[in-house]
Amino acid sequence: MEAAITPMAPQDAGAPADLKKAEKIAYENNKLHKRLCRLAGQAIGDFNMIEDGDKVMVCLSGGKDSYALLDILMTLRERAPIKFDIVAVNLDQKQPNFPEHVLPDYLTKLGIPFHIENQDTYSIVKRVIPEGKTTCSLCSRLRRGILYRVADELGATKIALGHHRDDILETFFLNMFFGAKIKGMPAKLQSDDGKHIVIRPLAYVKESDTARYAEVKQFPIIPCDLCGSQENLQRKQIKALMREWEKKYPGRVENIFSALSTVAPSHLMDRKMFDFTGLKATGIADPNGDIAFDEDPCATPAANATVIRFHADE
Ligand code: SF4
Repeated sequence: MEAAITPMAPQDAGAPADLKKAEKIAYENNKLHKRLCRLAGQAIGDFNMIEDGDKVMVCLSGGKDSYALLDILMTLRERAPIKFDIVAVNLDQKQPNFPEHVLPDYLTKLGIPFHIENQDTYSIVKRVIPEGKTTCSLCSRLRRGILYRVADELGATKIALGHHRDDILETFFLNMFFGAKIKGMPAKLQSDDGKHIVIRPLAYVKESDTARYAEVKQFPIIPCDLCGSQENLQRKQIKALMREWEKKYPGRVENIFSALSTVAPSHLMDRKMFDFTGLKATGIADPNGDIAFDEDPCATPAANATVIRFHADE
């Protein structure tokens, strides 16, 4: 049975108004937990992320998203019709003031197997990258290599990361605006060394939900700016743009996210994805075929269906 996620139990409340408020909070928190479980379960199912007998290595940075990922995977494991193991892994990169006791204390209390990998990548990055230059790409490359090695050593069959829907959308826009590519962040992929399967079970979850869940569960968050690096300016711009859309045009961000899984290669321009050169009329009418001379209808049934799905709470 999953633990209740009520920060204030109704019996703590005194006056009837307080009691009502406490009950409402408990109800909303429970709804949030259910929604996170439902969306993660749906992503896991849609992409066949976890199979019977898997050992899932959950990468825990100390940020809200990775805590939420571990928590939700633990709940889903209790309910799943298949058996899989979880091992939490944190890479301590020896950044200044990293509170090294926080994660071991938390994980010990949780009673989950874990491994802390100590590797001073911070010094390497500082030594190699000139002052004032962006350190993130070398830092992430080093981190990736270490995590792949640790996954091998632990016998992990899947590597789970805490990226959510907003990370995926931001990456999509970054690649399009600054990299001239239609390329996002996949929910499941083969690692660049060809040896691992990396999964993102929170792919359908909004960042605002992981943020609220972290507050409700009071995760012991470790700040992510200990290395002194600034957040990528371009990513900041994209985040601001998405926030504005979310406010001004409700449903737009969901529609863009839905579009990522409704791609029509024949209506783009990538000749590697569709054989435009060899395209010939077949002479056979297709009721779902192109309506090249008509105005394109804005709302496709698939996009609307997803909007409804995202708004539908338990
Ligand atoms: S923000 Fe710091 S820790 Fe994170 S990837 Fe960049 S350099 Fe590494």
